[in-house]
Amino acid sequence: MIPKDHPRYASLMIRERLVKGYESGIVCTHGLIAHGRGEAFDYLIGEKTTEAAMHATKVAVATLLTAERPVISVNGNTAALVPDEIVHLSEHIGAPLEVNLFHRTEERMDKIIAHLKAHSATNVLGKKADARIPGIEHERGKVDKDGIYGADAVLVPLEDGDRCEALVRMGKTVIAIDLNPLSRTSRTATITIVDNVVRAIPNMVKLSEELRGIKQTEIRKIIDAFDNELNLQRMTEHDD
Ligand code: ATP
Ligand code: MG
Repeated sequence: MIPKDHPRYASLMIRERLVKGYESGIVCTHGLIAHGRGEAFDYLIGEKTTEAAMHATKVAVATLLTAERPVISVNGNTAALVPDEIVHLSEHIGAPLEVNLFHRTEERMDKIIAHLKAHSATNVLGKKADARIPGIEHERGKVDKDGIYGADAVLVPLEDGDRCEALVRMGKTVIAIDLNPLSRTSRTATITIVDNVVRAIPNMVKLSEELRGIKQTEIRKIIDAFDNELNLQRMTEHDD
């Protein structure tokens, strides 16, 4: 048990969730390492959502709400960290979840899908994997034709750089959540949210409720005014 007054309580609770996910076969060993890299960057930004991150989050939600075929890509870490929130977001923006794993085994796929369904998901794609992302030879290239492959906008929390690049090459709007503002993923995504998924996804749920009542023309304005490169610069320079 981690005492609530421990100064690193929030961070340790996140680790706890990942370890539980690892023990139940949702998170893979590599996922634990990836989390370590993310944690280091989170420490540097004070483990809070910066203004620049919140700005990108708002643009991301506006983009997903106006997309014709939005899809949310889910990996093991995301499923372990924010299962309820990702299902809520999927419902709010009308985007199916698609499980997509770098270290893909059918057993892990089944476990993650069952986990998301236990958290009330109804439509979870990824098992069919009847299409491939051109240029991606590893397992993350396997996608559903009526999911990521045919999507116009894809939300990719904790993405791999080369797949992010390939999705952009396919002409998709790619929204990444990545704590490392210097990663290939952050640099190549259309919209980059430099924040922890444990904060970014709940923020997206909240914003999707707020933005739903706003006129289409206003939503367009929010999207058109955004410059990802400039916003990333704000994240690396810490000017907020
Ligand atoms: P890239 O493939 O984009 O060049 P990378 O190879 O350095 O980046 P990966 O191992 O592919 O990184 O993916 C892990 C990424 O996920 C890291 O950049 C890390 O900062 C980020 N990350 C880990 N945990 C979280 C989290 N909870 N929230 C947001 N980002 C996270
Ligand atoms: Mg990588």
